[in-house]
Amino acid sequence: MKNHIKHSAPTGKVYLVGAGPGDPGLITLRGKYLLERAEVVVYDYLANKKLLNYVPDDATLIYAGKKGGGLHAFTQEGINQLLVEQASAGKRVVRLKGGDPFIFGRGAEEIEELVQAGIEFEVVPGVTSATAAATYAGIPITHRDYTASVAFVTGHEAPGKKESNIAWDKLATGAGTIVIYMGIKNLPVITRKLMDNGRAPDTPVAVVRWASTPIQHSVVGTLETITDVVQKAGIRPPALVIVGEVVKLRKSIDWFETRPLFGKRMVITRTRAQASELVAHLEEYGAECLEYSTIHIEPLDDYQQLDQALERIKSYDWILFTSLNAITYFFKRLNATGRDSRALASCCVGAVGRATAEALMEYGIRADLVPEKFTGEGLAESLIKNGVQKSRILLPRALKAMETLPEMLDDAGAEVTVAPVYQNVPPQGRKEELREELAKGEIDLVTFTSSSTVTNFLTMVDAADKKELDKLLTNVRIAAIGPITAETVTRNGLKVDIQPDKYTITDMVAAIVDHYRDLTP
Ligand code: SAH
Repeated sequence: MKNHIKHSAPTGKVYLVGAGPGDPGLITLRGKYLLERAEVVVYDYLANKKLLNYVPDDATLIYAGKKGGGLHAFTQEGINQLLVEQASAGKRVVRLKGGDPFIFGRGAEEIEELVQAGIEFEVVPGVTSATAAATYAGIPITHRDYTASVAFVTGHEAPGKKESNIAWDKLATGAGTIVIYMGIKNLPVITRKLMDNGRAPDTPVAVVRWASTPIQHSVVGTLETITDVVQKAGIRPPALVIVGEVVKLRKSIDWFETRPLFGKRMVITRTRAQASELVAHLEEYGAECLEYSTIHIEPLDDYQQLDQALERIKSYDWILFTSLNAITYFFKRLNATGRDSRALASCCVGAVGRATAEALMEYGIRADLVPEKFTGEGLAESLIKNGVQKSRILLPRALKAMETLPEMLDDAGAEVTVAPVYQNVPPQGRKEELREELAKGEIDLVTFTSSSTVTNFLTMVDAADKKELDKLLTNVRIAAIGPITAETVTRNGLKVDIQPDKYTITDMVAAIVDHYRDLTP
């Protein structure tokens, strides 16, 4: 490289990104891409905090506050200044704003400031809350038969104000559908203005709070009645008001709030790596999932036992995998010792269930045996049926695990080598949060997918005695994936409410859905 090239000071850039209305799945791909590469993120009250999971661990997160009426963490000037400062320091700054940054988001004001300071920027649009609220309330914002126009209006500007920027006289009958942002406080005045200016009092109106989130709450009325309806339902901001004939379509199109698990809050106790499938399924049915990774999986300090087994790997007739973690950590170590899947060429491989068998396929290994009953016991039974007398069996697994499988095989005359490959550690930290959630009585269900999730959950809850435990779990239902997990639940004095016939995530979710379906009249 030529050394006469002078490096100019690093120039930062600000990306004004629309976070979407609430559901973190509604951010754009571009928005996600930028979050994944951000060095500084300045985010708002309305942007879903879950989106911050995309941000690199070493990035700086700054909450810019702004809750209607409440305390502002920053003034608008403060935010503008912050953006200029961070970008001038050479940082890649994502300014994350609820909905679309240019729709009632003061995004332009922030950009103007950047322009003045000569700072580079980009704006990424977002799904604005108006369309999301309507869609998620089952209201098509336009419809050939009902309306040919939509108006987005701010309700923040009190219509009593002398010089209103809103021509209520023209708006009232000029736009087919009218969507009002920030209109809850002024709702009585707004509806009155619309009626006084010629909109029919029986025009349907919907109000949607926290649209596209698990706590979405919609109510419907008419221009004449909606103020009362909203008050009785206790609807506070953030909410959108949708006025127009299209609101009638909600009756047949409503889909979001009618999902079978909508409004149910569930604690998911799984390992962090494994939580996603269960959570995705439950969310699909409308549940709100609070993920508590009661187990934290860690590698071992010492792999002596496995290493010795690997030295003589060819001498084993069977290798059995009873969990996804066992597979992950076994192959990690296999690779770390300079080997790969071919080392297993002469052994038969058994998997406890469908998911473990699929995971093995990713290492190029088709399981020779998957039992009908997806448990350690089931695996032992099918092996024994095949005959295991004098068979040499390697069992890579958790440091602490149930002895049923090795004992059964041992009793049947097999020679079993147990090689620990990972350990379960209960994580610290989120204990208080979990206890608080339970104490508030806002949890409907807890899911358990293994015995250790049960014991670790109980460790986290840390009840002083059985009485306190019962109190914390008063209205909480318990779902257990299979008989062994269920037994651990009952052994701890608790009752299992939901248990699927087959021990898979899909069947467990189906059982949960059925349970709640049966409860609703
Ligand atoms: N830029 C944002 C709007 C910011 S103004 C957008 O494009 O959506 C803030 C107002 O937006 C709130 O007072 C409320 O009326 C509305 N809003 C934002 N998110 C909402 C949500 N999830 N549900 C209902 N209303 C919402």
